[in-house]
Amino acid sequence: MTIENDNETKALETDTSASTKSSDSDNDDSPPPQAKPGEVIGFEDLGLSDESLELIRKAGYLVPTPIQEQAMPEILDGYDVIGSAQTGTGKTATFTIPVVERLAGRGGTLAIVLSPTREIAQQTFDCFETFGKPRGVNACVLIGGVPMNPQLEALKTYPQVIVATPGRLVDHMERGTVWLDYVEMVVLDEADRMLDMGFLPQINRIMTETALLGDDPASDRQALPHDDG
Ligand code: AMP
Repeated sequence: MTIENDNETKALETDTSASTKSSDSDNDDSPPPQAKPGEVIGFEDLGLSDESLELIRKAGYLVPTPIQEQAMPEILDGYDVIGSAQTGTGKTATFTIPVVERLAGRGGTLAIVLSPTREIAQQTFDCFETFGKPRGVNACVLIGGVPMNPQLEALKTYPQVIVATPGRLVDHMERGTVWLDYVEMVVLDEADRMLDMGFLPQINRIMTETALLGDDPASDRQALPHDDG
């Protein structure tokens, strides 16, 4: 779900209770919170700040959904996370709230969220408006099929988060109207769907512009495999 610098990847599926590290590092010994029988895990058990908890209360969320319970602590701890959950299970807030936590008080465009469709991008932007804007973490949305000018204006405010469909983000990169050099967190929302839609070349192009895959020769990350033939 999110890809960040220098960390392990965790694969989380909400239809199993397993949390699997896909790397062989043994740095992590703390399992994600698991409810004992009869015990309910609350948002306050996930390592979130009081500011986030207040915004979650205001949003009317009472308890975390399974994907939130499993993935939020891992994202907060800086792990790369692959999450798999059904639509409508609160996945947008799952990544939005921890991304906001990690960017609060910082400047520059540090995170991008790639969305398969304009509608999903807009919904994700709305989620950042709810959980990020009150804390000074600003997002802008770059989607196709709408005029460029409002997007150019939004970019001039140096949003910490860019939510975009891959094609429109590449358009901005080609025009030189967006810089991703400092991006340290990437969310590939519905990654399987984006690949099915043929966005692999754009995703690779975007990733190589970020601080994640940029010029760091020590990076063990690679662009996603692709077929040149
Ligand atoms: P999503 O799966 O991200 O599209 O979210 C589906 C809906 O669930 C959205 O309207 C969210 O605001 C809402 N939602 C997300 N997390 C929770 C939660 N823990 N409790 C209640 N509603 C939630």
